[in-house]
Amino acid sequence: MKIAILPGDGIGTEIMAEAVKVLNALDLKFETETALVGGAAYDAHGHPLPEATLNLAKAADAVLFGAVGDWKYDKLERQYRPEQAILGLRKHLGLFANFRPAICYEQLTHASSLKPELVAGLDILIIRELTGDIYFGQPRGRRMAVDGHFPGAEEAFDTMRYSKPEIERIAHVAFQAARKRNKKVTSVDKANVLETFQFWKDVVTEVHAQYPDVTLEHMYVDNAAMQLVKAPKAFDVVVTGNMFGDILSDEAAMLTGSIGMLPSASLDKANKGLYEPSHGSAPDIAGKGVANPLATILSAAMMLRFSLNQPQAADRIESAVKAVLSAGLRTGDIWSEGTTKVGTREMGDAVVAAIVGKPAGKTITTKT
Ligand code: NAD
Repeated sequence: MKIAILPGDGIGTEIMAEAVKVLNALDLKFETETALVGGAAYDAHGHPLPEATLNLAKAADAVLFGAVGDWKYDKLERQYRPEQAILGLRKHLGLFANFRPAICYEQLTHASSLKPELVAGLDILIIRELTGDIYFGQPRGRRMAVDGHFPGAEEAFDTMRYSKPEIERIAHVAFQAARKRNKKVTSVDKANVLETFQFWKDVVTEVHAQYPDVTLEHMYVDNAAMQLVKAPKAFDVVVTGNMFGDILSDEAAMLTGSIGMLPSASLDKANKGLYEPSHGSAPDIAGKGVANPLATILSAAMMLRFSLNQPQAADRIESAVKAVLSAGLRTGDIWSEGTTKVGTREMGDAVVAAIVGKPAGKTITTKT
């Protein structure tokens, strides 16, 4: 097994160090190779996704990614901005299915902005299509309007489009994922207004015929946004397009209290994938040693389960994270009265200690 390690920028390097430490504690046989990506790669090589980094990602069995970006790159031409590295990796690796589980650990129910009874035990999975929709549809650009309400005025436009095979493959992914869970898929669309999403709904319904054991419901995106905060536990697997998925997955993330807890996976058709925390590079806390590394550590667990066929090792990591939370250890983003505040490194050390069988709390030396 070869894992490409791409720490990136900001807190990326800090949280990745902890995830690698956790992987090394598992006594599995794998090789890792680290490369620059994002702003760090731009600074060193003039491009956010240098060829060597892309080749490493292509050759590896899985990619573990930290986070990229910093305000200081905001003035760069779009193609050189750190975030372009993620889009480039998705495109070149053929990653079309983004898995974003939103799990509310019972120890963290109070960290959610919703009432504890609404989120306690929450375990839903948002599956976002990654390669199509208005984000990539052509044509797009700026021009002088020839029609519309203001002919002759400057305007900008994007194109929303989905092909049948694109919808079919993500629908199959969603139904198969639901089979391993509570056997319910909610397909989110805007079929009442958009032709693209009437087509989406028709194709998902067609694919559903192959999965009679899974329940399918359709929901308009505005209602889904509402239901996610009203009764989130009513969902199991949510499947939707690129833009709606982008927005709903962040909404779902906040149900769980902190984005610092949420892993994600982006998979290709053979389940090779890129695994990363759902959050960004958090420049506001970078270098301070306070970032929560658990989203990255849990991303490593997803990598072991989905791409490297090591479900038991994944279970060990997830149990260790629960043990550490039960022992009352918290980084600042999830801290509350009565728990022990720890830094990034101490949190990683505690997860390692739980994996190798030492009581989590005992390894901690720094308390604030
Ligand atoms: P962000 O996710 O980096 O930060 C949002 C807030 O959450 C900040 O207050 C931050 O301190 C906090 N936060 C994030 N991760 C945390 C963690 N692990 N522990 C504790 N607190 C955490 O989003 P942003 O501030 O909008 O963006 C910062 C940079 O990251 C931008 O350059 C953006 O483009 C980039 N970004 C990258 C990715 C990615 O690499 N996949 C995703 C989103 C944003």
